[in-house]
Amino acid sequence: MRITSKVLATVASSSVVALVLAAEHPAASVSADAALAKLKEGNLRFATSEVSQSKPTAARRAETAQEQHPFAIILGCADSRTAPELIFDQNLGDLFVIRTAGNLVDDHALGSIEYAVAHLGARLVVVLGHQRCGAVKAALESDHAPGHIESLVRDIQPAVKAAKGKPGDPLSATVAENARQVAAQIKAKAALGDLAKEVRIVSAVYDLDTGKIDWAND
Ligand SMILES: [Zn+2]
Repeated sequence: MRITSKVLATVASSSVVALVLAAEHPAASVSADAALAKLKEGNLRFATSEVSQSKPTAARRAETAQEQHPFAIILGCADSRTAPELIFDQNLGDLFVIRTAGNLVDDHALGSIEYAVAHLGARLVVVLGHQRCGAVKAALESDHAPGHIESLVRDIQPAVKAAKGKPGDPLSATVAENARQVAAQIKAKAALGDLAKEVRIVSAVYDLDTGKIDWAND
């Protein structure tokens, strides 16, 4: 009797697990291409308007308080002038944002990306560098820095080397190269399973002067 109950309990709990797993892999609410179009439209609004269109409101907060369906994942720099929600003119619940100085990707960031794809339905990943990035500038000057800043300048060195000799301003070239390389790292390392074919990973650079995003052709 005890064994039967235990078996039944096991069967019941595995059904629950199966149901929960099925529920935790929602279909994309917005495809990668549609998400990119939304970001481009939002950035155009931001760059051409005096006042941002989307503002958090009590209604939007209530709408998103119990669940979230962000349509894009942004891996951006921690720089205070590059907040993705603002420069893409989006609201609460729209973007799943990860930020580190130099928009670098580590295991925590990869895990966050995998979570947002598998559990929240996001299908677009944007690696967003920006003009005059302090972390990239520091990496151009040296591969050493005090404390944990060293891990930042060290991980930007491959971009410093790859951008050497490219035409134009060395800092701008390295910023674009770093964003491109981080996007390539995500493509190579993120464990997205079957969802990988639906996911698009792109890089871009934000212009602090104009407010516009320059999208890489990748
Ligand atoms: Zn930066």
